[in-house]
Amino acid sequence: MMQSFQPPRRILMGPGPSDVSPRVLAALARPTIGHLDPEFQALMEEIKAALQRLFNAPEHACVPLPAPGTAGMEAAMMNLLEPGERAVIAVNGAFGGRMADMAGRAGASVVTIDHEWGQPVDPKKVEPVLAAAPTKVLAFVHAETSTGARTDPGPLCAIARKHGALSVVDCVTSLGGIAVDVAGWDADVVYSGTQKCLSAPPGLAPIALSKRAQAAISGRREKVRNWLLDFNLLMSYWGGEGGRTYHHTAPINALYGLHEALVALFEEGQQAAIVRHARVHEAFAAGLEAVGLAILVDPAHRLPQLNAVVVPEGIDEAAVRAHVLQAWDLEIGAGLGPLKGRIWRIGLMGASATPWHVRLCLTALCQALGAQGRTADAAAAVAAAEKKLA
Ligand SMILES: *Cc1c(COP(=O)(O)O)cnc(C)c1O
Repeated sequence: MMQSFQPPRRILMGPGPSDVSPRVLAALARPTIGHLDPEFQALMEEIKAALQRLFNAPEHACVPLPAPGTAGMEAAMMNLLEPGERAVIAVNGAFGGRMADMAGRAGASVVTIDHEWGQPVDPKKVEPVLAAAPTKVLAFVHAETSTGARTDPGPLCAIARKHGALSVVDCVTSLGGIAVDVAGWDADVVYSGTQKCLSAPPGLAPIALSKRAQAAISGRREKVRNWLLDFNLLMSYWGGEGGRTYHHTAPINALYGLHEALVALFEEGQQAAIVRHARVHEAFAAGLEAVGLAILVDPAHRLPQLNAVVVPEGIDEAAVRAHVLQAWDLEIGAGLGPLKGRIWRIGLMGASATPWHVRLCLTALCQALGAQGRTADAAAAVAAAEKKLA
């Protein structure tokens, strides 16, 4: 006999999902209504406007795609690229690599610009590659969740524009945690996810498309090869008020959750949320330093919401993750690719970016290290963090 699933209570401080607040969970449980109900259509309009505000993209078309962050990436590549077109992807971690794979599947001729993991994308490496041949798309990741490195999108979007390419910026982990300024960057396609710094459950991908990107898509020679994410079809559903035609059934309750997460974010204030992420990161970094733990990324390029903590020599990194999960119900993430076994990925995202999370994680980590015979004074770590929070 099947029984109801009762998830354990966990504290989510990995690379996503982050803790979802009770008010968002409550919103998800509200009654399902029809997706063509006038009340639901009003909600769709409100979400579109809220996403324009969130991305700072008043001139872009903004909608939440009905699938996780990866769908935003897939929509960008499939809609913008046609077979044979040149796509330049700056790769400085796992998600840049995924973009390159997708661009290849869209039939593009893909050029990657490889960076060491943990480094930001370097405009000086990118410019000559765009100057070398006509390019349709330049893509890169703003906040590389696999390494904790932050790239400045403004200069890269300018290079794309100068050479007639469309820019694609992955903001899955940045949105809500650090400044995302689509209009200021003059970026073409920017997408995100709900389960990182927005602290809604996974399953939706907010996306923003510039007028240039929309014109490129409506002027395609061949149909977009992905039906669900074909922007021309999607906008007949999410587009103009009243003129909606059935395309797919929107994930209605998931959209209640996103809406509530946005209400909460605007109540706090976007700038206040960014300051909160920076502040808890500073406290966490000070706590780590007090017990001799290092962060992989140079301070100038560190993401506050994703801390890549270097595993000390002689420590079994998987045993530390298992310890904090068992003893503290605390989830932290492992390294990927070349960083597997070398770092822990500790998220301070959205509702998980609080002083309480900082204290808890420092204490749990120190205890887990102690269990392996490496002295780490939890009280000293927490005291160093408190000093930054004061
Ligand atoms: C998490 C993440 C994705 C993928 O999002 P999913 O919701 O897991 O599909 C893409 N890019 C970056 C930078 C991410 O952190």
